[in-house]
Amino acid sequence: MSDFRRAGAQHLIVRRAARRRHRRYAAVTVGVAALSLSAFATVWAPFDPASDVVADGTDVAGASTSRDVEATTTSSTAPLNDLLAPSPTVVPTADISDGRAPLVHRVDTTDPVIFITIDDGHVRDPAYLDHFEQLGVPFTSFITEPYAKADPDYWTATMALGGSIQTHTINHPDLNRVSEATIRREVCEPAATFTERFGVRPMLFRPPYGNSNDTVRRVAAECGYQAVVHWTGSTNIGQLTMQEGQLKPGDIILMHYRDTLIADLDDVVARARAEGFRIGRLEDYLAPG
Ligand SMILES: [Zn+2]
Repeated sequence: MSDFRRAGAQHLIVRRAARRRHRRYAAVTVGVAALSLSAFATVWAPFDPASDVVADGTDVAGASTSRDVEATTTSSTAPLNDLLAPSPTVVPTADISDGRAPLVHRVDTTDPVIFITIDDGHVRDPAYLDHFEQLGVPFTSFITEPYAKADPDYWTATMALGGSIQTHTINHPDLNRVSEATIRREVCEPAATFTERFGVRPMLFRPPYGNSNDTVRRVAAECGYQAVVHWTGSTNIGQLTMQEGQLKPGDIILMHYRDTLIADLDDVVARARAEGFRIGRLEDYLAPG
């Protein structure tokens, strides 16, 4: 085969592989859309019969009663997910009375619940979407603005699988080492960008390296955030390490969108099961004060 034809054949192989990847990604996206939030609520409903969706025939979005009846009916046949936390027994109020968003390391709760948070957004493998779907638990993505802009369809897909999109600056700086003007841009601009791209205003901000200060908290409050979120444990190469050894109610787990994410998630899930914890939705526990 001539060099020209060999190059052409290789090009074709690459293009076919790209098409296969694209088809798979499209299939995942369609599947995700089909799953939809009502299916997610269906999984949630058995744990909390008093939830908004099933209590009085209307939900917060004012959906029709027929949809709610359908959701309630299908929930009776849906398998229970032993990892999925019910709604909080008490919603801790976020105190922003001093003009600063509260700094949260661990959520103030006695519920046996922990929270999955995943940062940055560098590796966006479609296999992660499959894994989120299998796990069927909520998770919070704190992503930097360039990764959000680079692949908005990926992040929209995570939202349909129980994920929420929160912010983590633009350039990932150490906020203890930059001016207030820079803090304001890094904290506030992504809130506007994400609202426009994803249709939901971010309510949580995570500072890079867990470095924040009073200025960061004040600016965060001014930009509409409910909390500045740190963590009490993190994963590294499929291994969860808690700062205090055992899991405690309200623990927030830090992970990253990197090659080991599936192993990281699996270790967190195994620890939660072994120590009697469920996975909660962080935003449900950090409501406006
Ligand atoms: Zn980060």
